Amino acid sequence: MKKICLAIVVLLQSFWAMAQVDAFTTNKGILEIQPVYHGSLWMSWNNLRIAVDPYGGAERYQTMSAADIILITDIHGDHMDSSTLVKLNLTKATIIAPGAVRDRLIKFLSAEQKISVLANGDSMELKGVKISAIPMYNLPDSPNVRHPKGRGNGYVLNLGGKRVYISGDTEDIPEMRSLRSIDIAFLCMNKPYTMDVEQAASATLAFRPAVVYPFHFRQPAGFSDIKEFARLVKEGNQAIDVRLRTWY
Ligand code: ZN
Repeated sequence: MKKICLAIVVLLQSFWAMAQVDAFTTNKGILEIQPVYHGSLWMSWNNLRIAVDPYGGAERYQTMSAADIILITDIHGDHMDSSTLVKLNLTKATIIAPGAVRDRLIKFLSAEQKISVLANGDSMELKGVKISAIPMYNLPDSPNVRHPKGRGNGYVLNLGGKRVYISGDTEDIPEMRSLRSIDIAFLCMNKPYTMDVEQAASATLAFRPAVVYPFHFRQPAGFSDIKEFARLVKEGNQAIDVRLRTWY
């Protein structure tokens, strides 16, 4: 009986994971996006697999094939999770990271592992994906904050004409507010680490992505009120598609 129950739970979990995949049309086929956990997501596009901040155990990635590109935003354990990373199939992967991440991660990786360093403001093209590194930091900007300016990267990816923004851990900085033509945005919202839902909604209304996903919303006690985030965004601009998904 126990085994049957377990099988049903596993089956439901895999249906749930499949139900979580969102599909977007691009100039080069379908872009599929899947929430994984906290600030981690998984994308499939043009025969490429792209992981962002793989975290929380390699078992979460069991059903995914080998990643071609792995983006890492910052040095904290919920983004640069070396114990999860080393258990993934990295044979095809190029890791994209800021220098502070590369310096800390390199001792966990094989000598052959491809890592490309991007600093804030840098761009590169890799396997047909244009990748730009965007600042991410706390306000007011000072060296003592959890996320000082210049250490971590947010990213904007261009996947067949669809521009995807991944915030990293940031407050509602001017560099985010001034982004334009973002099709799909992933926004962190958890005080005291990043921003609250009011800041996140205000920033969303400033840069007006077509679709926005709240993610990275676990707080020291509980979770940010992402329904309130959705309400604030809708109140300011009905046209923005807020997508609430299961990240935990
Ligand atoms: Zn974080």
